[in-house]
Amino acid sequence: MKLLIEKSVPGRRSHYLEPGDVPQKKVPDKFRRAKPPILPEISETELCRHYSALESRTFGVNDGFYPLGSCTMKYNPKINEKVSSLPGFTGLHPLQPASEVQGILKAIALTADYLKEITGMDHMSFTPAAGAHGELCSLMMFKRHFETKGEKRTKVLVPDSAHGTNPATVSMCGMESVNLPSNAKGCVDMDELRAAIAANKGQIVGIMLTNPNTLGIFEEDIEEITRLVHEEGGLCYYDGANLNAIAGTIRPGDMGFDCVHLNLHKTFSTPHGGGGPGCGAIGCKDFLHEYLPTPILTREENFLEISEQGDKTIGRILSFYGNILVVLRALSYIMSYGGNGIPLMSKHAVLNANYLQHRLSERFAMSNTGLCMHEFVMSMEKEAAEHNVTAKDLAKAMLDHGMMAPTIYFPLIVKEALMVEPTETEGKETLDQVADDYNRLYDEAMANPEKFVKHPQNTPIGRPDEVLAARKPKVVW
Ligand SMILES: *Cc1c(COP(=O)(O)O)cnc(C)c1O
Repeated sequence: MKLLIEKSVPGRRSHYLEPGDVPQKKVPDKFRRAKPPILPEISETELCRHYSALESRTFGVNDGFYPLGSCTMKYNPKINEKVSSLPGFTGLHPLQPASEVQGILKAIALTADYLKEITGMDHMSFTPAAGAHGELCSLMMFKRHFETKGEKRTKVLVPDSAHGTNPATVSMCGMESVNLPSNAKGCVDMDELRAAIAANKGQIVGIMLTNPNTLGIFEEDIEEITRLVHEEGGLCYYDGANLNAIAGTIRPGDMGFDCVHLNLHKTFSTPHGGGGPGCGAIGCKDFLHEYLPTPILTREENFLEISEQGDKTIGRILSFYGNILVVLRALSYIMSYGGNGIPLMSKHAVLNANYLQHRLSERFAMSNTGLCMHEFVMSMEKEAAEHNVTAKDLAKAMLDHGMMAPTIYFPLIVKEALMVEPTETEGKETLDQVADDYNRLYDEAMANPEKFVKHPQNTPIGRPDEVLAARKPKVVW
């Protein structure tokens, strides 16, 4: 596809501005560029067609089933967009005095109250811009906590099923990850946990845990895990990216966690995937709140204000108070579902995942044979070994058929993994259609593996070198 600049024809215009009636001032020579900038000159028709063509090449939740495991690509009700784009919110400036913006501050405080109730935490902060950013803040808070107590601790327990951002966060905080191998079921192995604690006595900052974990399984020994870490003086961090499975039913605070991040852009209705603004809201227990990033929302009598934190804070991590329109969508989402709707949402997510897992388990090997939570992981290990058909081949075939492929090659502990998260917003007809499509592609692959691995044929790019594409992207014309 040609770029706008390549479609440019000198003299073409797509604006119809009247000549101005304000006297022109000449920009002083020292500020003028030597040559005019190279900008595309294009008609409005061509401009519209260009963006329309780009749009039709993307795939979003509005186009079809989007089962990207670990990402919770649910449908986001339009009412939440409407609420977050009310001019009373979008017309505000973050430097306005608090007396003029009590409304939005009240909305933020209310969202914090709901999320405290959902997570079982005592305080919330909306400053982190993403889940990984929330992890970083929380671990910096843990670090500050031990510094204040005069304890030198540097080791963080991280299960081998963890999202890559967990060990990355540990490194960025100048700490060291201690890898916790999973047991055969894919859960934290309690013997390994005890051994890791014993081997690192007095050095353990804490544990970072996702529950349900990235295999879509609820950690059965969760209370014992947090008890053991606390007994050793460590703290417990809950990666809340999978909250979609349990919201309104069970709370991280009650499982024994001290700090949690929520991906408001996953669980609580903000479209994501293209790198748009997000919010990795963090919640913490009372004893950690002095370390929260600055600024914080404070309330005196009934007057709300965004105030600087005390001197124990980990500091400022983003300008102003974060991506507030994401917070407003979460508020609208929580209020429109209500106290009975939120747990039902999670139960439907779990039901949908189990239904689809069941419909696929005749052909596909599952990483876990029992019931799953909101997602499940299939493995193409056997097919790869016996027929040379990999998870990637299946994913590429799906793209050729206009389908969005699930997450592949994550979690790392499952070979040839395909991680499917249907979410609660899909109906039975869609799930049945998807099951038929996956099963049909599977049969095609087994019937003719040589032909199957030639997918994709119909996509703009086929199989790029993924490392080069990520490390050395060619983004300039
Ligand atoms: C998505 C995800 C993260 C990171 O969140 P971002 O908002 O993408 O930074 C962390 N942990 C898990 C389990 C996730 O799925």
